[in-house]
Amino acid sequence: SESIFVWILTIPVISYLLMGRKQGFWFSLTFIICGILAYHWRFISTEHNFSLNVAISVNVILSSFLMMTFAHVYEKNREQNEDRLLSLAGTDPLTGLANRMKLNESFHQLSALAARHQDPLTVVLFDLDLFKSINDVHGHAVGDDALRHVANFLQKNTRKSDLLARFGGEEFALLMVATDIEKGHQQVNALRKLLMKTPFTTQKCEIQITLSAGIASFGQDGHDLDNLLDKADKRLYFAKENGRNQVISQDPITANGTGNLKV
Ligand code: GH3
Ligand code: MG
Ligand code: MG
Repeated sequence: SESIFVWILTIPVISYLLMGRKQGFWFSLTFIICGILAYHWRFISTEHNFSLNVAISVNVILSSFLMMTFAHVYEKNREQNEDRLLSLAGTDPLTGLANRMKLNESFHQLSALAARHQDPLTVVLFDLDLFKSINDVHGHAVGDDALRHVANFLQKNTRKSDLLARFGGEEFALLMVATDIEKGHQQVNALRKLLMKTPFTTQKCEIQITLSAGIASFGQDGHDLDNLLDKADKRLYFAKENGRNQVISQDPITANGTGNLKV
């Protein structure tokens, strides 16, 4: 029956929907070609005149490939929108950096890789010093611009393979891949010094921003992100207590009771 060949037109829609763009494309193409060949074998007859045969062929081929094109374009747009939404869901709107959700997700991937290759992984927590006073003196909008300035600065001066995120407020987190705590300390300290030389300039004035940081090491200080951030936060707290604008990667009192504050 001719009505059976209506399936030719429905297959692209169903296969793109259920299989996605790549598999949907190949499945539809194969099905459409087979369907058109079967249709011709069954319905193109030497009893019809030539122009009627051409009209039937063009009709079936054109409508089948149009259906496939519509399904393809629709699926491509849908995929792009899905990617855009996923990327928005993992992005901090103020700074454009990764947000906490993305930090969690990336930690799972990076820590699994680090464990498999026995590579070190270092977690850093930054907190800007006396940031509230910037808001108080210059206003919240300037405070926002200052946060964007620091976010750009950190992004520009950290490796692309590392993950930088806005942790909340004026706090940032960094996952440093293939970096042990010693090396991480040196690099974050260099970053701290460079930030001191990179003030935030507004139309009216120049604002010096400094940061304090606490560092923890994957494995040595814990295996899940919450524990590592907790450890880094405690060290960050000591950096603040100790006068701010510094980096701490060890606990101030070690197990043997000696003061061991690495600054
Ligand atoms: P400390 O050196 O102890 O960290 O001092 P601080 O003033 O930075 O103190 P704290 O970290 O407790 O305060 C953070 C301040 O950062 C509070 C708030 O005014 C400001 N802040 C947090 N999020 C934002 C934001 O999105 N925009 C602006 N403009 N300010 C923010
Ligand atoms: Mg804070
Ligand atoms: Mg602060």
